[in-house]
Amino acid sequence: MGLEPNANIRSQLREKVMTITDRFLSGIKEAPAYVAPDKYSLDSLQINLNEKGHNPDDVFAEIEKYVDLPGINPASGNHLGYIPGGGLYTSALGDYWADITNRYAGIFYADPGAVKIENELIRWMIDLVGYPPEAWGNLASGGSIANLTAIIAAREAKGITPENVRKAVIYLSDQTHHCVEKALKIAGLNFSIVRKVPMNADLKMDPTQLELLIKKDINDGYLPFLLVSSAGTTDSGVIDPISDLDRLAKENNIWHHVDAAYGVFFLLSESCRSALLDMKKSDSLVMDPHKSLFLPYGLGVVLVKDREVLKKAFSYEANYMQDATTDDLEVSPADVSPELTKHFRGLRMWLPLKIHGLRPFRSALEEKHLLAKYFYYEILKIEGFEVFRAPEISVVMFRYRPENDEINRYNQKLIKEIHQDGRIFLSTTTVSGEFWLRVAILVFRTHKDAIDRTLSLLNEKVKEINSHPDFVS
Ligand SMILES: *Cc1c(COP(=O)(O)O)cnc(C)c1O
Repeated sequence: MGLEPNANIRSQLREKVMTITDRFLSGIKEAPAYVAPDKYSLDSLQINLNEKGHNPDDVFAEIEKYVDLPGINPASGNHLGYIPGGGLYTSALGDYWADITNRYAGIFYADPGAVKIENELIRWMIDLVGYPPEAWGNLASGGSIANLTAIIAAREAKGITPENVRKAVIYLSDQTHHCVEKALKIAGLNFSIVRKVPMNADLKMDPTQLELLIKKDINDGYLPFLLVSSAGTTDSGVIDPISDLDRLAKENNIWHHVDAAYGVFFLLSESCRSALLDMKKSDSLVMDPHKSLFLPYGLGVVLVKDREVLKKAFSYEANYMQDATTDDLEVSPADVSPELTKHFRGLRMWLPLKIHGLRPFRSALEEKHLLAKYFYYEILKIEGFEVFRAPEISVVMFRYRPENDEINRYNQKLIKEIHQDGRIFLSTTTVSGEFWLRVAILVFRTHKDAIDRTLSLLNEKVKEINSHPDFVS
């Protein structure tokens, strides 16, 4: 097929894609949340390109069969593992539109409207978290790149150079998302000293311990410069004591970055809002619209309180870009991020927010928090289960206490059974050598029926395992 299909062919192709994706959405309630990769052979998914092209029907059918089914189904309301995603339809339309027009969203003069849309979204998020108007940010591809951007801003702002990098100290906890350490490495800060601040029993970073570490580091001639806290943590969903941590950071001239990739949009929910307000004290933060704003994957945002820092860290002048000096009108994304040419990803966030309005987001987030509480109370009613703590946002860690089995081994069996079943998807974690299952409730399609299904599935599997003491799946 030629590269410019005519209107008729475009309509046919579009119709086919719409039929398949609509079929996906109509079946989403019944579809498994997880299909173990070993249940599927991908051997016939081969590139085998030819000169004239394959029949689109075959190409589409292959994707429907081999891509849309095996593995985790992130669009399913029964996906309660890791930090789930979502996939708002209106956002998909934004991607479609942005790809058709292919607007150049990196530089203001190339597409003033696209950049204005991105910047309006940044201003809205600055306002949402309570940063001052001098703050700025960037729409990146995800939380990992957004964290990297903030860490580079911190490195520049605090004057970390090859001369002092080995004396520089960074404070994290064992619950900090691993992408932060990855970002430190990419940013050349793997030569610095990373201290894991001890946590309290709730897995929150302990400010008293942080204070002791900072004092000792200063006494020993080191250079404390960066603190990364979380709101909430990916594993256990708890919010670090942001305010106390921030005070210590300010007293010691340390950059305080809050990784709020998971939790931040719960600012929109009445019940969780107050627990998240202190984030505004930080120097930078990360928020993932592809998590708690239910967008499809591909959007994580960094905000930095002092926009000059962000510009200093990322702006670059190239001779061939000399026409592009309209910075006084609107900040160009290319001047505050590692990217130049970029997808016009503002549109995938703009359309849902504008079309749905804020109310459905508020109530969906409120619902996720209430469902987590519901799960917490209900799982305790099933004999043998225990929970780590009540959910602060929408994650609950829990496990079964068997009478005649080693606890970790038992819970590993349990999750294996849940995964083989596939109707719902849960993930696990290990804290201080203890194996826990967790529910993370964040898909906008997750409602009470999914939680009830989860509870009865757990009940059923536990009974099955208990009635076969030597059971090995
Ligand atoms: C998901 C997550 C990240 C990583 O973000 P990606 O969008 O997956 O790159 C970082 N921090 C926290 C707290 C997260 O939950």
